[in-house]
Amino acid sequence: MFGKILIANRGEIACRVIATARRLGIATVAVYSEADAGARHTRLADEAWPIGPAQARQSYLSIETILDVARRSGAEAIHPGYGFLAENAEFAAACAAAGITFIGPPAEAIRAMGSKAAAKALMERAGVPLVPGYHGEAQDLATLSEAAARIGYPVLIKASAGGGGKGMRVVERAADFAEALEGAKREAASSFGDDRVLIEKYLTRPRHIEIQVFADTHGNTVSLFERDCSIQRRHQKIIEEAPAPGMDPARRQAMGEAAVAAARAVGYVGAGTVEFIAEGDAFFFMEMNTRLQVEHPVTEMVTGLDLVEWQIRVAAGEPLPLPAERLAIRGHAIEARVYAEDPERDFLPSTGTLSHLRQPREIPGQVRVDTGVRAGDAITPHYDPMIAKLIVWGEDRPAALRRLLAALGEYEVVGVRTNLGLLRAIAGHPAFAAGELDTGFIARHAAALLPAAVAADAGPAPEPAVWAAAALAVLRDQRAAITAAARASGDPFSPWAETDAWRLNGDGYQDLHLRHGSTALTLRCHPQPDGSFRLDLPGGPVRAALEEDAEGGLRLVLDGVARRLSVARRDAALTVFLAGQGAQTVLVEDPLAPPRSDTAGSERVTAPIPGRITRVLVRPGDRVQKNAPLVVIEAMKMELTLRAPAAGVVATIAHGVDEMVEEGTELVTFADPPPSAAA
Ligand code: ADP
Ligand code: ADP
Ligand code: MG
Repeated sequence: MFGKILIANRGEIACRVIATARRLGIATVAVYSEADAGARHTRLADEAWPIGPAQARQSYLSIETILDVARRSGAEAIHPGYGFLAENAEFAAACAAAGITFIGPPAEAIRAMGSKAAAKALMERAGVPLVPGYHGEAQDLATLSEAAARIGYPVLIKASAGGGGKGMRVVERAADFAEALEGAKREAASSFGDDRVLIEKYLTRPRHIEIQVFADTHGNTVSLFERDCSIQRRHQKIIEEAPAPGMDPARRQAMGEAAVAAARAVGYVGAGTVEFIAEGDAFFFMEMNTRLQVEHPVTEMVTGLDLVEWQIRVAAGEPLPLPAERLAIRGHAIEARVYAEDPERDFLPSTGTLSHLRQPREIPGQVRVDTGVRAGDAITPHYDPMIAKLIVWGEDRPAALRRLLAALGEYEVVGVRTNLGLLRAIAGHPAFAAGELDTGFIARHAAALLPAAVAADAGPAPEPAVWAAAALAVLRDQRAAITAAARASGDPFSPWAETDAWRLNGDGYQDLHLRHGSTALTLRCHPQPDGSFRLDLPGGPVRAALEEDAEGGLRLVLDGVARRLSVARRDAALTVFLAGQGAQTVLVEDPLAPPRSDTAGSERVTAPIPGRITRVLVRPGDRVQKNAPLVVIEAMKMELTLRAPAAGVVATIAHGVDEMVEEGTELVTFADPPPSAAA
């Protein structure tokens, strides 16, 4: 067994591999790019080595640099995770040449499965069923369009070197073929440096069912059963589960045997996944992924195995830990991929700092969160925008689904937009509960799923509880600030230290100016002798208080009724999470709040939250008074006007209308104020 291994990856999968290595008593070496200094995986490993700039090409994809770190750190083996170098045959060969064990299949097996077309030719010879199609050498238009006509429309053009759902085009009719082919080839050339394509019959209501296989160097190859990955958006997996709903034992056996045959045909060693597309009773080979798969945890949950441990043992030359007859499925597991994506911008990656992050509580064997980030970390444009994988287990599918919904409801993310609304909408959809899965699920139910995806991430009209929670959080912060100020003044007996001083005059109150989307609300708040408030909400007055729950969390009590919630504050923006309902953001104009740290006293104005600039109201050279409006940004569907912190002369304006800005981005700077304006 190895004494020390290097993990040539980042994010959740690096953390995942480190956890198993640690359990096995193996020392770990992490590598990190400049963008990942201090990232979670670097803190979990025994050693962390810098490998260069943020761009993956110059760091996580640099074979030279990674092998150099392996040599210098004394690592005996390298785990590549998934993505990056995991399916790079050249890297596997370079490891072998350097005398370092590659924790993965032999380079020849990676190469054999690397081209979808070549892999299909090989599978055909091994007797594995293929979807009707063309995967020949000739790539001219005449040959390909003839093949398409023979296969019958609709057809799918796929980049032979493709991956990650990229480089695919569906063609509905012959008239569109030539143009689609040209586009597919262009995309394939730019994404994969190889413009060869193959053509398949496009199945209209298929399921994606894949088989996890494992092989050792002693001639054993087993199937670890199937995963259903049919819940996809644009050919990319979002929710995966094991076992596949409705799978009968005979079919499971047939697919397992086909997958094992595929692995044997290329002399496979280690963890691999054979992906099939299934329609009706038929199933067809699509491709083999020669690595650990993103969704491997669902297989771990139902088999009780640690696949990374199996990978490491096999790489060290040990036989498979269990023979096929000892493998069995217990219960049901579902994984949901939580991404930093903006549902309102067609799920484009949403970058920014995770200013607030609370993930579901893990319950051993039942709820598992595989993540590479913590609160305060950034989702950068350099890498995959995944926040975490949430994996749940239940005695049966309904039990697993209940846990999934509950755990999704526990997520709290502020700082980036997420796909959590979509995940909740899918998990809560009756067709999903009924197991009506196929790759068209999201498109078919788009009318129900997509508006819900947007709403649950930035709700429409807030209910009274949201206003109340935001107001109470502001009032609580005010009290804390006043207490702190009184303490700092050195006179704790000053009447100003009485944090509820304003009610000494009897019927005191305070007006808070709140905003949610286009709705503005002036909320009158009356402090009560017991520390609670009477809030004059639009629907009528309520008695409101915040209290701690048994686990140190918060509860909102409205007229005696308590519910769990949490409030994350970033300057003027308060994001309220009411148990299981997603995020609602309220902006507050808070005259008594402590001054904003990033603007007060400084000669510049920065963006308090990430957003888009909608208006720029000043020009360099303009003389402005204190509080003059400078720039308007739109964030979380709200307009926020940034004002001059003091009188002065505008020096620079760094960004223009329609630009997206990160939190903390400098927007306006001021010249030294002229003496007349300085007072
Ligand atoms: P990638 O390398 O991008 O994973 P795959 O060949 O595995 O490419 O295909 C990705 C997804 O595209 C599949 O999971 C499936 O949803 C869809 N797909 C692939 N082939 C077909 C087909 N012949 N008919 C319908 N859908 C397909
Ligand atoms: P799987 O087939 O295992 O479910 P997917 O095809 O959905 O995996 O996603 C794996 C892809 O995600 C990789 O091929 C790669 O493009 C990308 N990827 C994987 N790991 C990382 C990572 N750590 N950082 C960035 N991108 C990654
Ligand atoms: Mg695939």
